Amino acid sequence: MPTSLEKLLHEAGTYLGRRATFAPAILATVVALIVFVLADHQRQARLNADERAEVAEKITSLAARLQTNLIGDIMLLQGIVAGIAVNPTMDEAEYARLSAQVLQTPSQLKIITAAPNLVVRWVYPTHGNEKVIGLDYRTDKQQHDGAMAARNSHNIVLVGPIHLVQGGEGFIARTPVYITDGRAQTFWGLLSGVIDVEKLYSDSGLTTTDLDIAISSPAASANAKNVFYGDASILDRDPMFASLDMGYGRWTIAGTPKSGWGSHNNMTVFRLAAGAVCLAVVAPMLWAGSLARSRQKTIVKLRERESDLMLARQDMEYQSLHDPLTELPNRRYLDRLLASEYLRPERTLLSLIHVDLDAFKEVNDSRGHAGGDTVLRVTASRLRDVIGPDDVAMRIGGDEFVIATRGDNPKAFVSLAHSIVRELSTPILVDGVECKVGASAGVAWQRENGNVAHLLGNADLALYEAKRQGRGQAEVFTRKLGDAARATKKLGDEIEAAIERNELVPYFQPQFDVNTHSIVGVEALVRWDHPERGILAPAQFLSVAEERGWSSAIDRLVLQRSLFELTRWDAAGMYVPRISVNVSAQRLVELANRWELSSLVFQRGRLCFELLESISFEGQSAAFQASIQNVKELGIDIEIDDFGTGHASILSLLELRPRRLKIDRQIVMPITQSTSQRRLVSSIVEIGRSQNIEIVAEGVETMEHASILRDLGCHVLQGYAFARPMSSEEFMRFYEARKQAGQHVA
Ligand code: C2E
Ligand code: CA
Ligand code: CA
Repeated sequence: MPTSLEKLLHEAGTYLGRRATFAPAILATVVALIVFVLADHQRQARLNADERAEVAEKITSLAARLQTNLIGDIMLLQGIVAGIAVNPTMDEAEYARLSAQVLQTPSQLKIITAAPNLVVRWVYPTHGNEKVIGLDYRTDKQQHDGAMAARNSHNIVLVGPIHLVQGGEGFIARTPVYITDGRAQTFWGLLSGVIDVEKLYSDSGLTTTDLDIAISSPAASANAKNVFYGDASILDRDPMFASLDMGYGRWTIAGTPKSGWGSHNNMTVFRLAAGAVCLAVVAPMLWAGSLARSRQKTIVKLRERESDLMLARQDMEYQSLHDPLTELPNRRYLDRLLASEYLRPERTLLSLIHVDLDAFKEVNDSRGHAGGDTVLRVTASRLRDVIGPDDVAMRIGGDEFVIATRGDNPKAFVSLAHSIVRELSTPILVDGVECKVGASAGVAWQRENGNVAHLLGNADLALYEAKRQGRGQAEVFTRKLGDAARATKKLGDEIEAAIERNELVPYFQPQFDVNTHSIVGVEALVRWDHPERGILAPAQFLSVAEERGWSSAIDRLVLQRSLFELTRWDAAGMYVPRISVNVSAQRLVELANRWELSSLVFQRGRLCFELLESISFEGQSAAFQASIQNVKELGIDIEIDDFGTGHASILSLLELRPRRLKIDRQIVMPITQSTSQRRLVSSIVEIGRSQNIEIVAEGVETMEHASILRDLGCHVLQGYAFARPMSSEEFMRFYEARKQAGQHVA
């Protein structure tokens, strides 16, 4: 699992990587932007300068035209002045003729007044301007200054625009008229020309220009602007200026483009072009950047997926090598560990300790699956605690564990195994109930050749031996143990095959009435009809079969075959009153299932179950009691086998209400020599009699035995003195022979 720091570093790396991808594109964009802005700025500045120059030029031209027009007007006026100077005594008619002549010339002059001695006398055209006649400049407030200035300066004075007395607006150009006669100059008066403002403006092109124009004349104060044409606000719009100085008046013309500065400086095309250039530079880089980025994204994604896959694989790997319940490594892990052992260069020895819980099945049965799980988990944690840091504890199946440990000294392996067994002998609390589970262990370690192939098998054999020795202990694997165990294992495998091949058959040993010696029954005793070794007695295979858990199957098999033979004998007219079969403890518990017995066909009282006294009848489960009850209800007799050898309380045995007690042959055989054994048999007979229980004696080897047992009060005799166990065919011949000999059969 990556830590959060690793994740952070990874993310930071990805982020920086992403940035690095775009670094050239970002740089190019920045450079392009700077170039663009500079070029734009420069271009703008140049356009602005151009525009200003153009505006300045236009204003200058307007000023020139204004000046030309004004000068023209004044020159026309001076033509009249010259006329008056030549003819100071001219009359009104002459003045009118001269004026009319002058005004024929296209100009902006529209009215010409003559004021000899500063009082207006004539006005041309007279019509409409009559009001002005008689105006005295010396007393007229509005016109006094201008008139005086003209007279005193001997120069032309241009005023206006002013409101005209006769109405409207106009500029007034005043020309002083002096008459020169030889040496002296005398002031004649003023000749004034009214210049048509509108016409002057339009003739000068002010009305058609595409500029906003403001014309000002110097005012009284320096700051104030005396704007008489146009909007004064133009002066605040950073206008271009041109001066108009005619000597008799100075005007300033200010102009800005009508639509404002820069409106014609069309930057769009330039900007588009520049933008296109920038884009042409940047776009491919961006594109390349985005390609690189998407590639990087893909790579990052792939890496993520790869690491996801890796994690998933690791997870699967972990799961495949571990047991989910205890989280211990599992059997596969052990296999790998052993496989990798060949690659190890170290010279230390590998040891395996095979541990198996002794009473796991019982806890599982009594406390359920959850209880079983608890036991396994507690066991796992105890194993973890007891082993060394370099040791590995594994759960290789059900309640089987293996501890792998290394070292030079086998003593350490053995002592670890003992520690484990001791540790696991402590009861385990399951749902508040103390369960004595216990464990057995088998130890095996690498031998000289270093081969580990048989290590687990050897540990298993040692474990097997530990179990056989009585559980709750640890055994070490030895060669002898190996041989024996291998033989036992081989035998077990063979028995399994024998059961499948029907090689297990019942032999029958007859039982006889103690007085009449007629056959009262047979005991079925299992034999292995071995294809090579001939007929094998139970001692040669039964314990191994029982260890493997097949005794139940064998008992069932013997019962079925026995009933079959009984039917066969009946059919052959050969009456055997009763057939007895041995029932193992394992089998008895199973027989609680009524259906199995009910499916069997037999007559009541003709079947008997022999139960070993050593099967503890005390404190047995309800299933056991039910089983006994079931057996009895079906009309099957219960007989206690090997009576007198076990330690069961006689009272508990009697509680089972058996039909018969079978005195063990260990007790029967010595009766010929031992009076105490005879007394023992006698007391057993006494018990039986008091409880109405028949007494059977087995191991009746001689007729002497037979007569003593009869005297002691036994009912049934079984032993070599009468007959050995035999096959069904042999028994049939035996029966027939006795019948022929006139002996009682049944
Ligand atoms: P068991 O039930 O006490 O059976 C009697 C054993 O005593 C038989 O040995 C029999 O052959 C032997 N025997 C009979 N008469 C004499 C005698 O006069 N002298 C001596 N020394 N022995 C005599 P077997 O057949 O080898 O059986 C041994 C034991 O195996 C049986 O003891 C019984 O506990 C067990 N067994 C046999 N067959 C079965 C079976 O089908 N199921 C189960 N669960 N156990 C069986
Ligand atoms: Ca028996
Ligand atoms: Ca017996």
